[in-house]
Amino acid sequence: MKVDRKQIHAMYGGRCCYCGNLLKDETGKHMHVEHLLPVQRNMPKSKWKSYWKEYKPCENPENENVKNLMPSCPKCNIIKNSLPLEQFREMIKDTIRQCERQTSYQRALRFGMIEVKEWDGVFYFEKYVKPENIETTSKKYSKNLKISF
Ligand SMILES: [Zn+2]
Repeated sequence: MKVDRKQIHAMYGGRCCYCGNLLKDETGKHMHVEHLLPVQRNMPKSKWKSYWKEYKPCENPENENVKNLMPSCPKCNIIKNSLPLEQFREMIKDTIRQCERQTSYQRALRFGMIEVKEWDGVFYFEKYVKPENIETTSKKYSKNLKISF
């Protein structure tokens, strides 16, 4: 499959489709090309390290197509792994609860070094408005999702 990394990089203004952080450079060199619908490769967790050495065949080869590709930062792509979007959303929503177990997080919170904010549960690509469509798309988006801009 031929992939135009520059085109994928530009899809959301040079930002990660999930977290919205800027991707490092315009060539897409430090970007991961993400499959929105997973292309699972039957990866048992205990074999995580060997997985990269033994590249396994696709479980969902139909998802290996250009329309399913998104620009992602390496960190989001790696943690999403082969999760479907809604499971990935639940995983991200659970992040603070996971942090609460860590003593360094508890200490930073206790000393007022961090402030916890609720995540709206909307990935960057779901709220992204292309610059030329700001007027029409933002109205449509705010109407559908009840979020005002
Ligand atoms: Zn990201």
